[in-house]
Amino acid sequence: MLLPLAVTTLWAIATLSRTVDDFDRMIAQSTYRLDATIQLQYRVLNVGTITAHEHMSAGVRRVSFNRDVRAVETVFRQILNDSAMHPRDRGIIERARHEWRNELMQPVTASGPSGSVQSQAAGLLGTLANAYRQDSEALRQQLDRSKQHLLWIAAAAAIGCLLIAVAGATLLTRSVLKPLHAFKQGVAHFTENDLSFRLPASQLHEFGQLAHEINRMAEHLEGHQNELQELSARDPLTGLFNRREFSQRLQAERERGRRYGPNFSLLMVDIDHFKNINDRYGHPAGDEVLTTVADLLRLSVRPMDVVCRHGGEEFAILLPETETGGAFSLAERIRHAVANSTILVSDKQSVQVTVSIGLVSFKGDVGEGIDPLAIADQALYRAKRSGRNRVITDSDVTSGN
Ligand code: GH3
Ligand code: MG
Ligand code: MG
Repeated sequence: MLLPLAVTTLWAIATLSRTVDDFDRMIAQSTYRLDATIQLQYRVLNVGTITAHEHMSAGVRRVSFNRDVRAVETVFRQILNDSAMHPRDRGIIERARHEWRNELMQPVTASGPSGSVQSQAAGLLGTLANAYRQDSEALRQQLDRSKQHLLWIAAAAAIGCLLIAVAGATLLTRSVLKPLHAFKQGVAHFTENDLSFRLPASQLHEFGQLAHEINRMAEHLEGHQNELQELSARDPLTGLFNRREFSQRLQAERERGRRYGPNFSLLMVDIDHFKNINDRYGHPAGDEVLTTVADLLRLSVRPMDVVCRHGGEEFAILLPETETGGAFSLAERIRHAVANSTILVSDKQSVQVTVSIGLVSFKGDVGEGIDPLAIADQALYRAKRSGRNRVITDSDVTSGN
């Protein structure tokens, strides 16, 4: 970005420097011509008095006068030798010399040529000297202007370079610091085990690629983490929630009840005489019965309900926002669905099982000392005692039915 500006500036400065040099040369030339012309004017004006002295005799004065005349002629010649002289100036010098020579033809006084002719030649030279003076002055002004331009260009180039450098540095800083800040944030999220965070895309190629790779890695890790969480929450045989997950969900429901006072019910479901299945058909047949009953439970409940294998052949079901009436209907539906199902335990053999269900319902806050599962278990125990394949509610337990 800076290179074209620097090259253009250097070219402009070099060109102007050359112009300044040219002006310098022209001024020197003009000054030299001015000096020579003034010198000549002086000599022309003072022929006969330059080398003469008061005490000289007339003969000696004549010799001195002739010497001055020769000197003036020499200066005329020197000036006219300047091949670069403007034809206008040359014309003036030649006219001055002509006038000067004419004057020499005039009667000579002891002090030199007559004053009138002298003035005419000197006047011509004076005019020329003035012209040279004006030329010099004009050139000097031109030179000053060029120098001023040179300074402006150098200053503008310096400011331009500075602005471009500052803008470039700002842009670079932004495009580097922004992704770096995002990386820092990402690391903080990942450290906090928040693998759902994704780094924003960066305009800088390297950062963009790095962000893409890190996001891919986070996606993989998040997938594995979700799988692990799911596995740790599930019972491997039936795929239902396990006891640990159920306890957490039940605790959350109790918290909700404490704050907002909703209803919830709890069912404990136990397969009747399950041991006999194992004993008669073998353990794999028992497993088949367990998974079939688990499927029936899963299909019987609403998506918001939580079904878990609480242990062995025992299942627990949490029914949020459900009062005793609704919970009882569901429990009966489950009991009938199981009782009416024929379960294939091998190619040739099928079995039928029944379940006993204990039910408990809560409204609002469940006191700290109360264990809903233990109460449901008591109801279940009562169902077993009173003949199995039935639903018993905790109110039945407390009322002694
Ligand atoms: P009750 O009607 O009183 O509930 O009698 P029950 O036979 O169902 O209950 P009991 O507690 O006497 O027996 C439960 C049996 O369940 C004992 C155990 O071997 C069996 N069992 C527990 N877990 C599994 C399992 O994962 N697979 C199989 N096949 N059997 C299991
Ligand atoms: Mg049982
Ligand atoms: Mg049992």
